[in-house]
Amino acid sequence: MAIQRKAVALISGGLDSMLAAKVIMEQGVHVEGINFYTGFCVEGHTHAIRKKDKAKPKRNNSLWVAEQLGIKLHIVDVIEEYKDVLINPKHGYGANLNPCLDCKVFMVNKAKQWIEENDFDFIITGEVIGQRPMSQRKDTMPVIAKESGADDRLLRPLCGKNLPATLPEKEGWIKREGLYDFSGRTRKPQMALAEQYGFTDYAQPAGGCCFLTDKNYSTKLVDLWTVRGHKEYELDDIMLLKVGRHIRPNKNFKMIVAREDGENKYLQGYKKSFVSMVSISHGGPVVLIDGTPSDTDLELAARITARYGQGRDADEVEVQVLQQGVEKSLHVKPLGKDEIPKEWYV
Ligand code: SF4
Repeated sequence: MAIQRKAVALISGGLDSMLAAKVIMEQGVHVEGINFYTGFCVEGHTHAIRKKDKAKPKRNNSLWVAEQLGIKLHIVDVIEEYKDVLINPKHGYGANLNPCLDCKVFMVNKAKQWIEENDFDFIITGEVIGQRPMSQRKDTMPVIAKESGADDRLLRPLCGKNLPATLPEKEGWIKREGLYDFSGRTRKPQMALAEQYGFTDYAQPAGGCCFLTDKNYSTKLVDLWTVRGHKEYELDDIMLLKVGRHIRPNKNFKMIVAREDGENKYLQGYKKSFVSMVSISHGGPVVLIDGTPSDTDLELAARITARYGQGRDADEVEVQVLQQGVEKSLHVKPLGKDEIPKEWYV
């Protein structure tokens, strides 16, 4: 009796990895999914907090993909290990702080370790030659296979016909004719294949699978590293970069101002670890202060906090400050609109 071959598919939550897994499932291979959680994933965090995307279903797209495919999904926390990938990328960054090539090498290497531990035969990714400028180029795709150590156990079903034969093909575990030859930035072949499989309502991420491709997010992360003088970060740091309006009036402190009720609630959860303030004489947002503000800085922060509340035109606003469990009130005049320089906005 033929041995049932098993493959693990890197599932990002997007269409390409979903199709790649399906193509191989169609060839009778047992497929399970693996999703790596770096802390920067766009999935199920800020879009669950903010109101603006309310029309969209709140779902974890990788879980949704696994459900659509009817496969088991392994979600692996790589937050700590990923720090070195982001802080010291051997191949550098893309247009923003996205270390896509190192990231792919890292993930495929993790998947390789996983298949060895779980007695699986090969790895599937949804990569397509020419789809992305950094990690999905004809010259960088072999780099991923080599540096990850996966070598010919790494199969890209959506463009496999354009690449040298991999072990699953050579061993006859799958048929090369059943692979595809997609290339370039066009999404049309993927959309046509999705239609053929009856997949609708799939996620369409704009820039990539994580916040590191986002210019504004990257600017905030650079600011964090610059003022700290080193590139370290904790999970809370990178989560908070996704939330609120960030204002840095001075090198020694930054304000995170909630933009809506969902963010107010989210920032409340951090009140014990940060200095926080809120206008109590008039309605206003929850504000966290990150850093080491002096009393003069707190006064300025209170005036900015008042500016973002309903008392912005009042002569005086009472702002409650909570610092290390001690509450105090500051009576301040809200800062005028033009008194907050543009450079303060991170
Ligand atoms: S977009 Fe983010 S998760 Fe995707 S490959 Fe690039 S760095 Fe990695």
